[in-house]
Amino acid sequence: MPHIVSVLVPTPKQSHLPDALSYWAESDLCAGTLVKVPLGPREVLGIVWHASTPPQEPPAGARTPELKWVSCVIEGFPALSQGWLELVAFSAQYYQRSLGEVALWGMPPQLKNSSAEQIQKRLERWHQHSSQTLGTPTRAASKKRSRASLAQDPVANGTATAPPSSPARELATPPLLSAEQRQALHDIGTNPGPFLLFGSTGSGKTEVYLQAIQALFERDSLAQALIMVPEINLTPQLQARVRERFAPLWGEHSIVCLHSGLTPAQRLKSWLAAHFGQARVVLGTRMSIFASIPRLQIIIVDEEHDVSYKQQEGARYSARDLAVYRARLENARVILGSATPSLESWHHSQASTQAGVKPRYQLVAMPSRIGNASLAQVHRVDMNHQPRKTVFSSPLLTAIESRLKAREQVLIVLNRRGYAPVLQCNSCGWKTRCQHCSAFKVFHKLDRTLRCHHCGQTERVPKACPVCADQDIGMLGLGTQQLEEQLQAALLSMGQELGRAIIIERIDADSTQAKGSLEERLERMHAGDIDVLIGTQMIAKGHDFRRVTLVAAIDVDQALFSNDFRACERLFALLMQASGRAGRDAHLTLARPSEMWLQTHHPKHALFEALKAHDYVRFATDQLRERQLANMPPFSSQALIRVEARTAHAALGYLNELHTQGSGLLQEASGTEPGSSLEDIFLYSAVPMQMQKLANVERYQLLIESGSRAQLQRFLRRLHEPLRGLKKKHPGVLRWVIDVDPQSL
Ligand code: ADP
Ligand code: ZN
Ligand code: ZN
Repeated sequence: MPHIVSVLVPTPKQSHLPDALSYWAESDLCAGTLVKVPLGPREVLGIVWHASTPPQEPPAGARTPELKWVSCVIEGFPALSQGWLELVAFSAQYYQRSLGEVALWGMPPQLKNSSAEQIQKRLERWHQHSSQTLGTPTRAASKKRSRASLAQDPVANGTATAPPSSPARELATPPLLSAEQRQALHDIGTNPGPFLLFGSTGSGKTEVYLQAIQALFERDSLAQALIMVPEINLTPQLQARVRERFAPLWGEHSIVCLHSGLTPAQRLKSWLAAHFGQARVVLGTRMSIFASIPRLQIIIVDEEHDVSYKQQEGARYSARDLAVYRARLENARVILGSATPSLESWHHSQASTQAGVKPRYQLVAMPSRIGNASLAQVHRVDMNHQPRKTVFSSPLLTAIESRLKAREQVLIVLNRRGYAPVLQCNSCGWKTRCQHCSAFKVFHKLDRTLRCHHCGQTERVPKACPVCADQDIGMLGLGTQQLEEQLQAALLSMGQELGRAIIIERIDADSTQAKGSLEERLERMHAGDIDVLIGTQMIAKGHDFRRVTLVAAIDVDQALFSNDFRACERLFALLMQASGRAGRDAHLTLARPSEMWLQTHHPKHALFEALKAHDYVRFATDQLRERQLANMPPFSSQALIRVEARTAHAALGYLNELHTQGSGLLQEASGTEPGSSLEDIFLYSAVPMQMQKLANVERYQLLIESGSRAQLQRFLRRLHEPLRGLKKKHPGVLRWVIDVDPQSL
């Protein structure tokens, strides 16, 4: 008897289609089953959303109703779990996207874009391969099972390949835990969480993650863990440690990675391993929050403050926030770890001023470094008292030389790549502006080009000013390339004195384009083959460089005066993380404390004072007080409507009209009962985005703020209709998007 099933297909929220479409199916299909369905002229992958409605009368003869038939069911594919479906439902609703978009977003392309036969073949191949590598008989039997009996849980269902009974390798022995690590593990083991693991740089958070996972695995031999990291290629060390710890216990194949750098085939393999339960540990970037992990029992969000957890296109979700939600759904533990937690998480971990209200997150603190290594001493150089155009002040150079003489390593952070941010004609003031963006083209000295870091447009440096023909073109500002050159020159004589070359290397988006070059450089740094590493924020994060004893940050002032209210939080985290790369080896700091140097024109700034004292808590408390006074997140919720248009006129016209309609909605809702009230919503006027023009597209935004998350959500849902309607009226508008909890304004 045919049934009617509702199926999630990739229909965008911006379209007028509903979230799930109905199809006829030959038989009963349970929620989470993968199917192929016709959609317009194409056949697409879909996910059964609702269990089928009771058997229906078959369509009468040739007079087929409007509903189409499911083309086929993907056999041998255990249904996605209820928890997974609920995660999708929540994400779609909260981030204002369609269910289908979110559901299919994280699916491997080889599942999404292949025919049913191809998928079938790939599944078979996967089963064969995974059984070979584990030496257990293939479980391809699942293929034969009727689709009606597909259960929710592939692991319980036996589709998962069992772990090998005896350790494949010698066990990697974990180190003896510090008292703080022991306490942290005890807290995590005996409380429900969510946990904010607030541990100094070098306090051994990774060891806590690994042992928390292991403790759970010892209780449940099929349990799975998800470890999320901000950027996978910056964390080869973590990957290695996870592998070293768990491969001997559960085999090489028990650890898989999920990130956008994988080939489609690798991605499918990892994804299936997680789905079938063979992968015990999934290590991935933000996308992995949507992986199917049916036996998920613990989620780790490492460096939880990192902005890369927020997706910046499509469904703009925060993987960190979803991790907390998913953990609750699946009754799993979740640990957010950082030395500089996001102010949101920090706020959630603090006791409320209202008596009896428990903090949302449980704070687990590890203030000390392993082996009692001391934190870096912070030195500030007042650049107002240095000769103009100084790049490296003399006290900093002296300090660097002293470290290099002792064969220690130095790290220099400058968050601006290229040679000079702008070239300028010294005669008429012409600057190297990008024609397509609201940005300057950056001078790259190696190939003598001007490059726009936003649209990629590249051109040769003109011999003379295109306006006045004067050849006197000068440089403004400083990039990593120039820093490298200046330091080479400054350390030349020292190299001669020491009778060895001083090796200086650079890590930024330019120097690491070639595949493997980043890894290679990091490895050489770890091996001690590099004396000074210069780079952007890429070098400041997470690395456990053992012989770095001096870190310097050059030219950090810009962020102090940014329009974005989160700029100070970011700068503080960056500098704190950077300083955390120094002095991680207790033996080295025992002899001489490590150093963090700041060159600034505002040495007395409160941010630097807090940094000098390594006082995250003071910084966070100050910032939160300011945010509370100004009613900014986390004391209010925000959403942005972002619009891209051919002209500024079209963008503004669209948003201004939206503003009017939105205000109308607010007015209508006034005086209604609490369940539909919108009284705590504030609509700001439309303004250009910081980067107003990008690749010839005009970008504007409208900020919405509310003291009530629920009201904001309610209001956003009502805005879809005007957003879609107005689009037709304003053909110059290319696209609109809602960004809930935006991370940059
Ligand atoms: P964090 O992530 O907190 O900055 P890591 O987890 O990278 O710190 O640990 C810092 C260093 O200390 C690493 O080299 C790690 O191997 C080592 N370490 C961690 N725990 C211990 C311990 N209990 N005993 C000895 N060394 C440890
Ligand atoms: Zn000129
Ligand atoms: Zn550009």
